Amino acid sequence: MKEQLRAIRGMNDILPGASERWQQFEQTVAQVLAAYGYQQIRLPIVEQTAVFERSIGDTTDIVQKEMYTFADRNGDRLTLRPEGTAGCVRAVLEHGLLNVQPQLRLWYNGPMFRHERPQKGRYRQFHQIGVETYGMAGPDIDAEILLLTARLWQALGLSGLRLEINTLGVAAEREHYRAALTAYFSAHRDALDADSLLRLERNPLRILDSKNPAMQALVSNAPRLDEFLEAESRAHFASVCATLDAAGIAYVVNPTLVRGLDYYSRTVFEWITTELGAQGTVCAGGRYDALVELMGGKPVPAIGFAMGIERLVELLAVQAGERSEASAELCVVSASEAESQAALLLAERLRDAHPGWRVVTVCGGGSLKSQMKRADRTGAAIALILGEDEVATATVSVKPMRGQGEQQRIALSELPTKLAALLTA
Ligand code: ATP
Ligand code: MG
Repeated sequence: MKEQLRAIRGMNDILPGASERWQQFEQTVAQVLAAYGYQQIRLPIVEQTAVFERSIGDTTDIVQKEMYTFADRNGDRLTLRPEGTAGCVRAVLEHGLLNVQPQLRLWYNGPMFRHERPQKGRYRQFHQIGVETYGMAGPDIDAEILLLTARLWQALGLSGLRLEINTLGVAAEREHYRAALTAYFSAHRDALDADSLLRLERNPLRILDSKNPAMQALVSNAPRLDEFLEAESRAHFASVCATLDAAGIAYVVNPTLVRGLDYYSRTVFEWITTELGAQGTVCAGGRYDALVELMGGKPVPAIGFAMGIERLVELLAVQAGERSEASAELCVVSASEAESQAALLLAERLRDAHPGWRVVTVCGGGSLKSQMKRADRTGAAIALILGEDEVATATVSVKPMRGQGEQQRIALSELPTKLAALLTA
């Protein structure tokens, strides 16, 4: 036997059984986004490496150690996208979308690639649905985006998510803060871990992002960014908070929330669950007013977020318990070869009558007993059996598979209505 080939570590197959949850998730999200006037943009998975280097910033984990970068057959430096924002800005500028519509609301969905250490909730190929808005500078869009995310969890039936928000101010405010942080952490150099020592040189704000428990005390006593904010940044943040209060959305202001990427300014946020272990952030984003100019456009304010589909689908599974969404409603069985065509046509009629029903046929013949076993495995609530007698009298034997009621004969003409009643009983 040949050696079994395997998928790449950290890159998952999404198998039947799980894919139904993904589809449902994606449909619900698409509906909510449409309700807020978002339009989908479909972007390439591979971009020139410069797209990410320039936008994400070379002091970040992503650019320093996580990107899948390679030379193609022409020798061009290309990268599998590690996130969606950079490519989205590139596309918006390349196609002049903002010249046509000065305010844009876009969303994307697809795989992202980061060479991280694979573990639960952290993969090398993972999927995000992301949202980006352009041309809106005020705190109202920040608040609307947070309302939108809250509505997403509600529409998905998810509960127990915590919203953390913070403001990073604007570049000049961060410069002053950076100086104060550098002074503080330099004075405590002995207590810094190796990662933080590196960050002290390159980008001291990112020390606040440290996940090392031994660093937590030092981090929580560090100077706070809000002490360095000017009136305008304070007012912006206060307005976002006021709208959340007015809408009844609970949140926690977390002054150490800085986000991993360099391009954020002012409002940043994360939605976090405690039900998935260490990788509890399911959605994260913020304002990035400087990025469009950095990518070669005119200055245009922007805010967006991305959610991790693996983590959210896992949370849906955890909160839904063992409930399987994959089962068919109906399964059609033919007692012998002679009725197999009639069985296929009956299934077609039922799909015509109720496009929402999942109707599975037990193809491939075999004894009635073995067919009933296969019917059971589809998870169907009801089996419809066609034998010689049923075909001759234009009836069907209707057998409940999950213990609701007796087997009965139903006339074909009455079948759709009677099945609808049985299935909702
Ligand atoms: P983390 O701090 O967990 O590494 P991040 O700040 O790198 O997250 P973002 O770049 O903001 O994450 O991505 C947004 C969301 O995408 C995250 O909140 C998470 O849900 C998901 N995500 C990010 N990286 C991964 C990964 N390697 N595997 C699975 N999901 C991920
Ligand atoms: Mg990360």
